[in-house]
Amino acid sequence: MQFQRLRLVGFKSFVDAQEFHIEPGLTGIVGPNGCGKSNVLESLRWVMGANSAKAMRGQGMDDVIFAGAANRPPRSHAEVQLTIDNAQRRAPQPFTDSPILEVSRRIDRGQGSTYRINGKEVRARDVQLLFADASTGANSPALVRQGQISELIAAKPQNRRRILEEAGGVAGLHTRRHEAELRLKAAEANLERLDDIGRELETTLSRLKREARQAEKYKKISAEIRALQASLVYVRWNDARLAAEVAAQELAEADRAVVEATSASGRAQTAALNAQEALKPAREEDAVAGALLHRASLERDRLDMAEQQARAEVERLKAEGARIAADIERETGMAGDAESELARLTEAFDRVSAEIAAAPARGPQLDAALLAAEDARRA
Ligand code: ATP
Repeated sequence: MQFQRLRLVGFKSFVDAQEFHIEPGLTGIVGPNGCGKSNVLESLRWVMGANSAKAMRGQGMDDVIFAGAANRPPRSHAEVQLTIDNAQRRAPQPFTDSPILEVSRRIDRGQGSTYRINGKEVRARDVQLLFADASTGANSPALVRQGQISELIAAKPQNRRRILEEAGGVAGLHTRRHEAELRLKAAEANLERLDDIGRELETTLSRLKREARQAEKYKKISAEIRALQASLVYVRWNDARLAAEVAAQELAEADRAVVEATSASGRAQTAALNAQEALKPAREEDAVAGALLHRASLERDRLDMAEQQARAEVERLKAEGARIAADIERETGMAGDAESELARLTEAFDRVSAEIAAAPARGPQLDAALLAAEDARRA
């Protein structure tokens, strides 16, 4: 795999667009400490699909975007583009026919990376596979960073084996084998699922067959039921027709009876009118008798009341008579007493008169006594 050109925009210290032409033979980058030599190597790893921010010497992948300097504001995105010579058509499908491959990776702050090959957006895995097939890539031992040689010497045998496999060009095969295994597992899972579905379908099929048999039986029985229902309906219809004929005859007879009843009713109404006419004088007499009865009843009530009053008057007069009799008796007694008293007083008067006459002279006191005796006698 022959790299032709590397273009950086906004990547780490390369804030402005910068192109590196990689000609056949040896190309070297020379510069003082901190001028950005390692950043160039990291841009190569990054465009090949590196997914470890730590390997890029950052906390997060956004750290590869130019973070700003004293006189430059930070950038919002970074992009690295790698141009590869494919004149010998070694690139795998679907890139085999392109003489040049333009692989690019762009990262926008907070939004992640986008990969493109020849302007067409692809997955990170497609880019990683493209370089793995050519026995290179972000983790290729062909890219040696500072201090990596001493790390290799001290590495575990397993890590060393991985490095040797990549150097031997089988890393792509490993990746592809891993993918094939994943696909195989997915296919096996699908097959198991298909077996399950097949079993479910067999169960469903036997159930459907059973239901089909039942449906057939149902259809046959339904047809028989319909035939029997038709016969039943015919028999009922026939019965109904005969019943309708009988009912029609009965209706005619009933009509005749109605006519007769109507004329009888007319006659009865006439008789009733006549009877009402005949009843009129009797009703009037009844009304007069009612009025007389009413008047007599009132008179009787009035007489009853007068009788009660007369009786009460009799009782009162009786009591009055008894009281008068008692008064007479009492007055008679009193008259007797008065007569006795009168006799006594008369006798006393006579005596006093005689005494007076016999007396030599009458003084005023004697006159007063005489007048008093006279008054007492009169009383
Ligand atoms: P050395 O020879 O010491 O290893 P170097 O030439 O390899 O140095 P690098 O380590 O590649 O230099 O570059 C380091 C420089 O890149 C530092 O000046 C650092 O400030 C700058 N740098 C790294 N990341 C960013 C970034 N995101 N934005 C701006 N500058 C950055």
